[in-house]
Amino acid sequence: MASEKRQKAIDLSHHLSDISRARETSPLKGLGKYFGRPGLISLAGGLPSEAYFPFSGISGDALVADSFSLKPTEQESSLSWIWKLFSRTNKEKTNTITIPKYVEHPAEDVNLAVALQYGMATGLPQLQKFIKEFVEKIYQPAYEDCTVMVHTGNTDGWSRCMQTLMNPGEAFLTEEWTYPSAVASSKPYGMHAVPVAMDKDGMNPAALRKVLAEWDTTTQGKRPHVLYTVPVGQNPVGSTMGATRKKAIYDVCVEFDIIIVEDDPYFFLQQGEYVPKASRADTADASSEDAWLAGLAPSFLRFDYQGRVVRLDTFSKYIAPGSRLGWHTCNPLFAERLERQGETSAQAPCGFGQSLITTLLNHWQMDGYTRWLHGLAIQYKARRDWFIDCLAEELHIEAATSSTVSFWKDCVVYDAYPKRSTGWLMSEKGSVDTKMLSFVPPTSGMFVWIKVHFDNLPAYRRIGEGDESPEIQLWTKIADAGVLISPGWFFAADVENPPTDEMEGHFRISFSNADFDTLKKAAQIIARETDKFFKA
Ligand code: PMP
Ligand code: PLP
Repeated sequence: MASEKRQKAIDLSHHLSDISRARETSPLKGLGKYFGRPGLISLAGGLPSEAYFPFSGISGDALVADSFSLKPTEQESSLSWIWKLFSRTNKEKTNTITIPKYVEHPAEDVNLAVALQYGMATGLPQLQKFIKEFVEKIYQPAYEDCTVMVHTGNTDGWSRCMQTLMNPGEAFLTEEWTYPSAVASSKPYGMHAVPVAMDKDGMNPAALRKVLAEWDTTTQGKRPHVLYTVPVGQNPVGSTMGATRKKAIYDVCVEFDIIIVEDDPYFFLQQGEYVPKASRADTADASSEDAWLAGLAPSFLRFDYQGRVVRLDTFSKYIAPGSRLGWHTCNPLFAERLERQGETSAQAPCGFGQSLITTLLNHWQMDGYTRWLHGLAIQYKARRDWFIDCLAEELHIEAATSSTVSFWKDCVVYDAYPKRSTGWLMSEKGSVDTKMLSFVPPTSGMFVWIKVHFDNLPAYRRIGEGDESPEIQLWTKIADAGVLISPGWFFAADVENPPTDEMEGHFRISFSNADFDTLKKAAQIIARETDKFFKA
């Protein structure tokens, strides 16, 4: 949207929680406007002298922005070559970035005297500048005065949003399968998640509208006014919410006056549809960085003409989880409240991390950072492809079928059956055609979500009173065989009332970390144990 046409955010102050309204500017922080004035003798703050900081400078060796090839060959994707970098045989692939304690132009250049000192909760100005430009270029918000406000990772980002937008006892809307930590952080405040049905594109707008339209305040309490969503690399399902779906969800949120919290740590790990090995071309992604970015599913910000989206970005998946650095993008009123909250908790993200990451980003520059992100996207795509190939092979899946599973209606599903070669099967239907598990290859993120058809177990294997659910029984067998995956029940937005009954189990399997050979071994064990379980 052209910037001259953009409107400012509308007044959404009625969404603020009581706690958030009650936050005051720290009297000492109010002195901030004087800081930086030339010649000012400041004796106001309890600032230790920079001379007493033991670090006189820090430096780090960082990979060059184009370290990862845009060609998803397995060998490059195994990351083993990375370790060669550290054997010092390939030093040209890194650059050393240094951050001195003092610099000639402290307002422009990152320096430890400032980065390690008390500062504003908005973080280093140089970081703020970079992320503001990044947001405008990449996410293209549809309103004019969107504001960035640093946090210490999306976990903190959501926690702050929750406390800023909701009072204890309130409910928030989310996908029926969701990120457990988001639910866990709300529980001690007496808040709870209200599940909304999903399909292959994520949250379903008709289901969202139904929940809101049919909300009965007398029996259900206050109608939710916050929606928490993981739209890309949906955790745990691995789906990607495209532009049409986002626009539809946004429109429902305008109609019912809902604030959308977009927790989007996997935005740049979009991988597109899985193409089976036999028909997959092993060529480099020839698109320019701009063409690659233009092909990604857009952020909710692109549709946000009112300022009702709080987007959460994090460096966890693109730099390192231990960096504990990210930011909110939202309307200025919410950003100001989040800043007040930051002042009385973390103050600001750690100065070491901020200064190193800011210096790296400024060294790479916008083009370099997008090249880095593009390289990572290809790496994860190669991992996704490899792991799905392994599962298909180990589970003897020859081809995808069009879905019969309602959750995955209208998309290609991979169904696995017990192995035919090993003799008779004691399925209820007494047939080798008894489906054992199904999955839809993820289109982004780090996870494969597998549905296990325990309802196809023979009748005598059905659980009795006091038995573990079949999901936990099979999960235990797989864990005992040496592969730790996540049982599906962890991810139910409402664990008391999960979206499916016990005879339909799920597993979330991550392909983000193990090396390729290990992923293959894991697929073998999962396939073997599931097959055994269905025949036992
Ligand atoms: N408590 C008191 C009494 C302080 O004086 C200060 C620093 N001025 C703080 C907390 C802030 O400590 P920190 O930098 O560890 O957050
Ligand atoms: N939100 C979602 C949906 C995630 O999947 C994760 C990581 O697993 C996080 C947040 C945590 O992010 P951070 O490290 O930025 O706190």
